[in-house]
Amino acid sequence: MGINGPGGGTGMAATPDAARIPAPGQRPSAPAAAAAPAPAARGRLWLWSVRHARGLERLYRILAALFLRLHPLWQALGYARAERPVRFVERQVKGLLFDCRMCGQCVLSATGMSCPMNCPKQLRNGPCGGVRADGHCEVAPEMPCAWVKAWEGARRMAQGDAILAVQKPVDRRLAGRSSWLDVTAREAAARRRDAA
Ligand code: SF4
Repeated sequence: MGINGPGGGTGMAATPDAARIPAPGQRPSAPAAAAAPAPAARGRLWLWSVRHARGLERLYRILAALFLRLHPLWQALGYARAERPVRFVERQVKGLLFDCRMCGQCVLSATGMSCPMNCPKQLRNGPCGGVRADGHCEVAPEMPCAWVKAWEGARRMAQGDAILAVQKPVDRRLAGRSSWLDVTAREAAARRRDAA
């Protein structure tokens, strides 16, 4: 999995916190667990989504193309006015399927349909060095590591190698916004630039 693959780590050992990260199989120390609270109990549907990453990838491409075709409508309405209803639908659909946290900069198509914001450390570029031997999270042992599942999902996808791309840090200013509209607006702008 290259620099981001399971077992590859993300340089956690170089951080001052590394001393507080327990070895796989050990329970996390109180400070480490407190520093990165585990997400609320997750539904199980996200595991289904990872298993069906190929089909969901196809569906995503269809929806993305549809949203782009509707760009004139979003423009006529105003992207800002469309934001609220689209965000509502996005939150319901992605909340159900992926336990989406509405980070506003979706990377599901590059993470095997496993949302990295459900990693208690919210790592966007692969797992930390603390994945347990059973593939579960060191902070929330009852939960499979979001990045182990991301790799499994990516292997099922036609464009699964997108997982090797290095993701930018999360921009917290986008939290709560609709990724669907954001991607559409940026793609429409790129096409306009290319056509000019
Ligand atoms: S990456 Fe962000 S937008 Fe995508 S499912 Fe996760 S929290 Fe939601």
